[in-house]
Amino acid sequence: MAAAPTLPPQRRGSSVPPGEVLLDVRGLVVERGGRHILAIDELEIRAGETLAVVGPNGAGKSTLLLALARLVRPTAGTIAFAGVPLGPSDDLVHRRRLGLVLPAPLLLSTSVFDNVAAGLRFRRVDAAETRRRVDGWLERLGIAHLRDRHAGQLSTGEAQRVSLARALVVEPELLLLDEPFSSLDPGTRAELTDDFERLRRGTAATCVLVTHDLHEAVRLGDRLAVLLDGRIRQCEDPARLLAAPADEDVAAFVGAPAGIRGRVLAARDGLVVVDLGTRLGPDTATRAEVLLRATAETRRVTRDPGA
Ligand code: ADP
Ligand code: MG
Repeated sequence: MAAAPTLPPQRRGSSVPPGEVLLDVRGLVVERGGRHILAIDELEIRAGETLAVVGPNGAGKSTLLLALARLVRPTAGTIAFAGVPLGPSDDLVHRRRLGLVLPAPLLLSTSVFDNVAAGLRFRRVDAAETRRRVDGWLERLGIAHLRDRHAGQLSTGEAQRVSLARALVVEPELLLLDEPFSSLDPGTRAELTDDFERLRRGTAATCVLVTHDLHEAVRLGDRLAVLLDGRIRQCEDPARLLAAPADEDVAAFVGAPAGIRGRVLAARDGLVVVDLGTRLGPDTATRAEVLLRATAETRRVTRDPGA
């Protein structure tokens, strides 16, 4: 039996060392109504990281998360966990590694304590250990005083704290969170986001956090994946992604200035001459105010003196 957890939470071993690929998704397609609602060519999720998946409503975020939990069957593709492709017979083993938090808390009609204890009882953890771990997580999430309250008598914020406690108490190797803060009012949401950020630093869990809120994704994600129309259009460090969106759709989603297209007429000694012609019109050559989005590659932009 494992030793009693102490505050802060213990780090538990992972199937692969931190930083190595824990989940490897290849050619994953989910089809609904004859349409590819998800098509992920390649996605690697590394042990210990928080990958924030962000995209507008309908982008396929929940579908991706449920596919990672193997609660949605893909039409094609593979998901490998610690290098081993998951097959149908692995579902139970895989689900035992997971903590899953959904947008609206779905709690059992029993006490807060029993809700949080359910996953441990399912895993046949003994009563004394269950009590220690449940009480530890209730305390870390600031809901120890709600221990004996019926789950039906909680505010939405309290209920979502119970959902988080329930997911974390099993010390999952993989924590999957689908818009965990979206049903909360702004104040409650800010508090729980702060607490979550603090808690996840104390766990060894690999997290995939799905959200439509870019601010939340940038704040909580070690890496950011932008999902548009079922496809990951860019996936990297949040600061780099915001500074250099891969294309106009990603730029529009992250609210980067649209930039202006031009045609390079000449490039010499670090000086680039760009024709901005089509959007500015022939008479704007000397008066036009222009907005050019600079990326790391941009050195200097000038107007074609002959235009
Ligand atoms: P998100 O979580 O990003 O809002 P979802 O993954 O829930 O997006 O859904 C992605 C797309 O797939 C949406 O356009 C949705 O309408 C569609 N979809 C999801 N489930 C089904 C289904 N069972 N049948 C048909 N379309 C579905
Ligand atoms: Mg969703």
